[in-house]
Amino acid sequence: MLIRPPVRALPIDPLLPEICEKTLAERVLVLEAEPGAGKTTRVPLALHRAGLTTEGVIVVAEPRRLAARLAAEYVSRELGERVGGTVGYSVRFEEETSRDTRIVYATEGVLMRRLLQDPELGSVSAVVLDEFHERHLATDVLLALVDRLRRTTRPKLALVVMSATLDAGPLAEHLGAKRVRSEGRAFPLTIEHQTRPDDRPVERQVASAVRKLLAEEATGDVLVFLPGAREIRMASEALSGERTPENVLVLPLHGDLPMKDQARAVEPARERKVILSTNVAESSVTIDGVTAVVDTGLARVAGHSPWSGLPTLATAKISRASAVQRAGRAGRTRPGRVIRLYTEGDLATRDAHDKPEILRDDLSETFLGLHGMGVRNPAELRWLAPPPPAAAEAADALLRRLGALAPDGALSPTGRRMLAFPVSPRLARVLVEGERRGVAADTCVAVALLSERDIRTGVRTAFQGGRPGIDASGPSDVLELMERFHEAEGEDFHPRRLGSMGLDGRAVQAVDRVRRQLARIARDSGPRPDSIDGVDEAIQIALLAGFPDRIAKRRSKTDRSLSLWSGKSARLLETSVVHDAPLVVALDAEESRGTVVVRLASAMRLDWLFELYPEAVEMSEELAWNPTTEAVDRVSRISSGSVVLEEERSPAKPSEEVSRVLVEAALAKSPPLVQADEKLSALRERLELLRREVPEADLPDLGAGVVNAAVERAAAGRTRLSELRGVDLGDELLSGLGYAERALLEKEAPVHLTLPGGRTVPVHYDPGKPPWVESRLQDFFGMSRTPTVAKGRVPLTVHLLAPNQRAVQVTTDLAGFWERHYPGIRKELCRRYPRHSWPEDGATAVPPPPKRR
Ligand code: ADP
Ligand code: MG
Repeated sequence: MLIRPPVRALPIDPLLPEICEKTLAERVLVLEAEPGAGKTTRVPLALHRAGLTTEGVIVVAEPRRLAARLAAEYVSRELGERVGGTVGYSVRFEEETSRDTRIVYATEGVLMRRLLQDPELGSVSAVVLDEFHERHLATDVLLALVDRLRRTTRPKLALVVMSATLDAGPLAEHLGAKRVRSEGRAFPLTIEHQTRPDDRPVERQVASAVRKLLAEEATGDVLVFLPGAREIRMASEALSGERTPENVLVLPLHGDLPMKDQARAVEPARERKVILSTNVAESSVTIDGVTAVVDTGLARVAGHSPWSGLPTLATAKISRASAVQRAGRAGRTRPGRVIRLYTEGDLATRDAHDKPEILRDDLSETFLGLHGMGVRNPAELRWLAPPPPAAAEAADALLRRLGALAPDGALSPTGRRMLAFPVSPRLARVLVEGERRGVAADTCVAVALLSERDIRTGVRTAFQGGRPGIDASGPSDVLELMERFHEAEGEDFHPRRLGSMGLDGRAVQAVDRVRRQLARIARDSGPRPDSIDGVDEAIQIALLAGFPDRIAKRRSKTDRSLSLWSGKSARLLETSVVHDAPLVVALDAEESRGTVVVRLASAMRLDWLFELYPEAVEMSEELAWNPTTEAVDRVSRISSGSVVLEEERSPAKPSEEVSRVLVEAALAKSPPLVQADEKLSALRERLELLRREVPEADLPDLGAGVVNAAVERAAAGRTRLSELRGVDLGDELLSGLGYAERALLEKEAPVHLTLPGGRTVPVHYDPGKPPWVESRLQDFFGMSRTPTVAKGRVPLTVHLLAPNQRAVQVTTDLAGFWERHYPGIRKELCRRYPRHSWPEDGATAVPPPPKRR
């Protein structure tokens, strides 16, 4: 027999008649009242009693599992019934309802799924959106969907939106709803902040603050807000020391605890209580008897990894509005005290409110769900806050990439099947592929492993110091994890044995729960491969199906650096067992300050991608310069995103295009190939000289353009640089000149000079130097004046060499040389080279005949 507790008066009670009357009459209402006023536990029951449930149940959507279960338990107890009677609950993995149930406390997620199965909500007479101020993504979506139903096919469906913060004016206006407000009664609070930041670990700060409150306040319970279960455990340990008074109960409160432990934290007790809670106690779960609050100022915020789309939890600073809510928990029954473990300065820098999730979250799962309900374009809904266009586009793109949407934007059969699974679209796609390939049961395990915390104790996250120490090598971290999971299963998940296997018992059990839930839905639609390798391959293909835009290529065989589909680089974490696969799917990664670290990877093959998503594979042909062979290659590439999956190079056959690439390469070389050709450079110098010194000849400018044109002519029909080098570019260049111009060039900038004795020497034209010649001094005998070029306007610089080939003089004035310097030099020459003849007057002397060399 259940004992029915006496029903206490709550602040909401006097408003209940008005609430029921308005809801029945107008079928829409916005209700605002402080936490603890009685919204969650009193309003649905009152609506039921007022006759709202004659045609269907009341679904109360709660943002948290814990709130749904506790409320159902509590209201049932007040009714003197067991939960699952008139009042029940339905959360992921658990449902307590019966044919008699008229009020169902459900999580928002469960209500969303119910809408998928029954878009008209035929069996529902009223939807209550509770804790609306938390503005989860699902809250906003449900609001829009129920509003749409009410405006179309279900005008009688009642909608009550309940919020704990008194700023629901815009919401009421949006819905065209009346507001009912309960100002509540709050007692004054004394709030202490830290005077300066405390760098002790948060659990030690909590322990000090709690002890201080217990010592200074004679009675009353203490409620501590911590970010998550881990911090709660550590704070509980820190408080277990002897300095904490004995007659105090330290009670944890978070969603992962067994039901009876959660109830213990909420129920009244004879001892004084210290409740260590996550932000479930901020507004969705109220605890009586609390007169003091310790606030760490932190909360775990749900999000989605921009990387994998998988759900994430991050610790973040709470907003100022949350800080006010938390503090308010202390002043419900008498004046209260609050200790904030942060400074006032810190508080001032925080956001005023939490941003609605719809403005910051991944929308692909929501959009897929909307498609399932026939909402093809989410913009057609009336949103309280419309989703940001960029996020909406990204969601649409992902759904198309996964094949959930047909090209025309309608839900495809794949997309429809994905909706059967209560997981993110990527993971749902993995499951659908697993079903087709006959490995449904296996992919349920794979997906459960991907969606829950890592089951290996030694392996956390990349930035929390993932350690190597796994020598295993294999094609896939997921296959590796599956093996570990099946080992654990073989041990019946025995906690102690799991510990010695390096596995986290809780995590393993969470995976098992998800696996079972998915396995109830998944059905093989294709034959199971008949070999173990075949099964492994099918699982890997299924993984690729969910992450086609996460493929990556290993930079080199021995390396752990990856090039990603997005074009970014990443590093494969040391703990990954995928040591040598050239192509992988990066299934889970973390990004911190631009560095991507891939935690879990799985090998993939090109033919799998072809089979799954032929449209995601691009084939291209292009010509490319090969610096090693110094030739033009034809490159055939198969790529997806920025990843080159396969590349084939072969020498290109001559064509116009090939010549163009060759020319580009030749001219791009530094120094340019053509400049390196001495003959060509001399030719250009000669032309420049004449353009400068004989302007009346009007020779054309042989700037880069003409040179390039010459290179282009030379490159026709060729593919390699060596062929180009063999070509006389000088001739090519000359062919750009007219006949007379060429004749002028030969005459006035000759390449050779004949000396009096008949010997011919080259005339050098070096860039930046006057033209010059050199030969033995005796060869110049009989030459009384300096030789010139450019119509006699430019004297050649003459290098006169001794028999040892050393210059005895460099001059542009040969006459002066014979006259002034030669007599002195001659004496010296006579002494050193007595067997040569050194006539006295060089200007008239007869030179010796040229020697044969
Ligand atoms: P609200 O939704 O307005 O924040 P609730 O309906 O949750 O308020 O709670 C109203 C009051 O009912 C609380 O102040 C508390 O006294 C009591 N109460 C609610 N749930 C529980 C529970 N699970 N255990 C014990 N008391 C509860
Ligand atoms: Mg509530």
